[in-house]
Amino acid sequence: MLPEPVLQEAAREMLDYRGTGMSVMEMSHRSKAYQAIIDTAEADLRDLMQIPQNYEVLFLQGGASQQFAMIPMNLMKNGVADYIVTGQWAKKACQEAKKYGTVNVIASSEDKNFSYIPDCRDLPVTPEADYVYICENNTIYGTKFKELPNTKGKVLVSDVSSCFLSEPVDVTRYGLLYGGVQKNIGPAGVVIVIIREDLIPQEVPPFTPTMLRYSTHSENGSMYNTPPTYGIYICGKVFQWLKQTGGLEAMAKRNQEKASILYDFLDNSKLFRGTVRKADRSLMNVPFVTGNQELDARFVKEAEAAGLVNLKGHRSVGGMRASIYNAMPKEGVEALVSFMKAFELKNG
Ligand SMILES: *Cc1c(COP(=O)(O)O)cnc(C)c1O
Repeated sequence: MLPEPVLQEAAREMLDYRGTGMSVMEMSHRSKAYQAIIDTAEADLRDLMQIPQNYEVLFLQGGASQQFAMIPMNLMKNGVADYIVTGQWAKKACQEAKKYGTVNVIASSEDKNFSYIPDCRDLPVTPEADYVYICENNTIYGTKFKELPNTKGKVLVSDVSSCFLSEPVDVTRYGLLYGGVQKNIGPAGVVIVIIREDLIPQEVPPFTPTMLRYSTHSENGSMYNTPPTYGIYICGKVFQWLKQTGGLEAMAKRNQEKASILYDFLDNSKLFRGTVRKADRSLMNVPFVTGNQELDARFVKEAEAAGLVNLKGHRSVGGMRASIYNAMPKEGVEALVSFMKAFELKNG
């Protein structure tokens, strides 16, 4: 979900954006009004995440999935990369990278259906690896890296799609971090890449498509071609909403509070249980099961009838999953927990 004040403001500006006489959807991306929108969005994101000057912020398309290819295409100078596989998204990124070079899986949690984050303090990092890749918050499985891996000096690349702006981050620990905005920021169609300048290669194999070179976008302020203008505009509003509500520290506090309401209930429930090792629990995605598939299905159906939607778990985990992204209010989590309590009383 998106914050309601953002949607309301967008609605007010729908027909006439600040006296321009048109909707943002109708503007030329080369107009002054639009340039101000994208510049403000970038400045606010830099401010929120304290992105250092030697990092570029790129607003791209193609979703997070396109980055699975763009990262190896641009970053594999030695043709070698190390991947830590903690779920489907990391696995897909790893499969894609194999098309471009040698890929080593240096840790995985597939042995227990990705229900934990492996110990990454002393991994067999490949000496010639160009980068170490992680998916920081595993959307489907509900795990999160609470500590970044020890990359032994190698560049860290992270997919933060489902934890983007959920808490403060130290950007300097990464060479590149990126995410599709549709999980925790804005509408589908925008992917944000934050990349250290010196990692943007001047030379890539000549057959690399122009649109898949980071340099194309960094040299043109994300406007080599028409960017996803309306999506970036909404993202910009979400950045302002985050700043007005206290920034990422305050957001992290609210997210911790929300998640603990649900986790505390799960830990004391006789019917429901979480599926993830406690130390690795995500603040954003909370999978849980009853242990009985029929009961799970009934729960999802009855919850939906009560207005609690999108609770069906991913097919690879089963059961339920509550995605409690930034814009989900505490009241939403409380409503879910009271519904679960009532369901437990009836079916316990
Ligand atoms: C959803 C998701 C993706 C895929 O995003 P698309 O924008 O649909 O390509 C990749 N990584 C993570 C962590 C996700 O949650």
